[in-house]
Amino acid sequence: MLAAAMVLSMTACGSTQEEAPAATESAETESAAQETAAAETESAAAETESADASGKTYIIATDTVFAPFEFTDASNNFVGIDVDLLAAIAEDQGFSYELQSLGFDAALLAVESGQADGVIAGMSITDERKEKFDFSDSYYDAGVTMAVAKGSEIASFEDLKDQKVAVKTGTNGAAFAKSIADEYGFEIVEFSDSPTMYQDVITGNTVACFEDYPVMAYNIQQGAGMEMPGDVNESQTPYGFAVKKGENAELLEMFQAGLKNIKENGKYDEIISTYTK
Ligand code: GLN
Repeated sequence: MLAAAMVLSMTACGSTQEEAPAATESAETESAAQETAAAETESAAAETESADASGKTYIIATDTVFAPFEFTDASNNFVGIDVDLLAAIAEDQGFSYELQSLGFDAALLAVESGQADGVIAGMSITDERKEKFDFSDSYYDAGVTMAVAKGSEIASFEDLKDQKVAVKTGTNGAAFAKSIADEYGFEIVEFSDSPTMYQDVITGNTVACFEDYPVMAYNIQQGAGMEMPGDVNESQTPYGFAVKKGENAELLEMFQAGLKNIKENGKYDEIISTYTK
């Protein structure tokens, strides 16, 4: 972990605004004890040592469980590629932030409604989203894939006929599934997070789900009882950091500059290789 005192808010999305002042206070002490205490109370901020001159603490929203980009590890730390990239970029650029783990759909809504300043959540850069968000350059390549329970007979989209298919609300995978549902004659069931969606497929309530390839591959490698039939890998949609369109331009610029710096100094590669082997 970086020099940053890194704690995380695991609160529901409704509490965003009440959380902010407490988080700013906790940032001022920055001791390890403080970090532990804050973590235990589930209230928190992720802060860099060097707050920017304005003293502003940006609220950054993220997903709850989207390994290897954001997830809680065996030691109960909230970690992942997004979490570490943001910490490294904030340290490089000297800005303070509070990371809020809200869920994917809720994270996007928080930024759209102005409750959060930015989002990093394995969020795909799409033309549709560009109407509502300004994106950084991409920091990771991804695409949507179909996944089924291990040993399933489902091997192609044709096999989905008259079946139920799981998607995660507000995602690119959901949009893709919806775009082909009529053509292949399947019914869509929505979930708000990835683990619940996988579980539904594993238990056989739904016969398949649509998820980002790197995320599905990581989960299968970690033992999820699923597989990706064939080479079904649609819509290449790399990930970017986003702010609400027309707002927080300085935050986006700092992210962009920091991303460039950590790509040059090796930190980016170090983070990626921590989570992908
Ligand atoms: N990359 C997908 C999207 O942007 C899914 C992101 C996620 O579930 N966190 O829609």
